[in-house]
Amino acid sequence: MEISGWGQYPRHTATIIEPPSAGDVQTALRQSADLPLITRGRGKSYGDSSLANSVLSSRLLDNYISLDQNNLKLQCGAGITLGSILELIVPLGAFLPVLPGTRHVSAGGALAADIHGKNHHGKGSFSDHVDSFRLCLANGEIKQCSRTRNKKLFAATCGGMGLTGIVLDMTLKLLPIGNDQINNRTVVSKNLDESLALLAEHSSSEYVVSWIDCLAKGDALGRGVVFVGEHATGQESGKTGRPPGLSIPVPFHTPGLLLNRYSMSLFNNTYYGLHNKSQPDQQVHYERYFFPLDRIQSWNRLYGRRGFLQYQLVLPLPAAKEGIRQILERVADAGKGSFLAVLKQFGPGNDNYLSFPCEGITLTLDFKKEASVFGLLEELDKIVLAHQGRLYLAKDARMTAETFKACYPNWEEFLAVKQQVDPDNRFASLQSDRLGLTPARNTRS
Ligand SMILES: Cc1cc2nc3c(=O)[nH]c(=O)nc-3n(C[C@H](O)[C@H](O)[C@H](O)COP(=O)(O)OP(=O)(O)OC[C@H]3O[C@@H](n4cnc5c(N)ncnc54)[C@H](O)[C@@H]3O)c2cc1C
Repeated sequence: MEISGWGQYPRHTATIIEPPSAGDVQTALRQSADLPLITRGRGKSYGDSSLANSVLSSRLLDNYISLDQNNLKLQCGAGITLGSILELIVPLGAFLPVLPGTRHVSAGGALAADIHGKNHHGKGSFSDHVDSFRLCLANGEIKQCSRTRNKKLFAATCGGMGLTGIVLDMTLKLLPIGNDQINNRTVVSKNLDESLALLAEHSSSEYVVSWIDCLAKGDALGRGVVFVGEHATGQESGKTGRPPGLSIPVPFHTPGLLLNRYSMSLFNNTYYGLHNKSQPDQQVHYERYFFPLDRIQSWNRLYGRRGFLQYQLVLPLPAAKEGIRQILERVADAGKGSFLAVLKQFGPGNDNYLSFPCEGITLTLDFKKEASVFGLLEELDKIVLAHQGRLYLAKDARMTAETFKACYPNWEEFLAVKQQVDPDNRFASLQSDRLGLTPARNTRS
């Protein structure tokens, strides 16, 4: 079957197995002992991290195991989506401490990419709220991992992109909330200095993120809209209940031709114009606040059949501002803007070997996949490396092994743990082959 990540590039023909229980995962591993294999959650990473000749889907490992409402802990299967967990826990007054921009991500995928949300400055990454998990190793053995038990395996698996084993289930810490509403405020910024100053100024707020008009140039370079959010307090203050289920489908691929520098520029100008005034607090349902893109089903088709690449980088402070400026200038000059250009401020990173965040500024850009974009991205890689930054593995489809090794200084420690638990490199993806973490045994289709 042909599959891809969310960016629809690359595509790969894979054999897919879907074991319904931990015991079946063990059996499946024994039966396919000679094949490189990778786990796939919901395929919402953008590039090739969940692609391999043989793919083990965690979709059916979607059971709830226990919920401790007093201590706010949930034990659940790795295949369950964060959206389903929220549906269960929000009416009980609990929330997930770290959320990505879509509800359709599995708990296992969130752990394997060690995802971050709009609150990394306050709450860190997903794995910072994981007490423990069960990991099925290449030989079928199941290991319990936590910060005190098999701790190197814990640090290698959180952010390890499925290369140490298959996460079967996990225990998550939850956050108490009063209701399902978020107080959202928008603040307009005129340029990059203002955007970064606003992110810093609001770093004591729970959630902060900025949309950037990445085609603006000169004095307007880096202008945008900053969204500041806090959980509404009080049980009665919120209008509980889900928002009306407006969801616009994109039923077929939009011709990529529609996306050119003029349409991008029109979109960016219009979006900026719509938010031309800062807005005071408005209460919105959490789904609207956290997952606005989920309201456009299959929005990835907007980039056309050839797909798109998402490029997310983080640059450590204090050089971040200069590096981001250079990147935005280069993108604006190339006229290869993106609808989604997002700036966030990260707090300190954690001790996992391959987790992405470090204290600094992260920028996310989308590019339609076309031949000329690869050269541009190589130029951006150089700016990132010159500023001691790194690129996010969950978004990556093209970084070289050299770039990866330069931006993830703990890759050798990671590999040492992988070689202990997976000496034959059973777990390998197209991405890990490309990054030199596994010998290239997956054939490219
Ligand atoms: C619209 C959108 C918005 C996003 N916003 C954010 C964001 O704000 N912040 C952020 O950090 N990320 C964000 N992401 C990226 C997404 O959160 C990650 O790529 C996440 O890993 C996807 O989870 P998945 O279940 O789809 O995993 P997949 O894409 O299927 O797999 C991702 C990786 O996890 C591994 N994996 C999956 N399940 C398991 C398991 N059970 N055991 C071991 N390894 C496993 C896979 O092998 C692969 O390497 C966004 C993605 C989209 C599409």
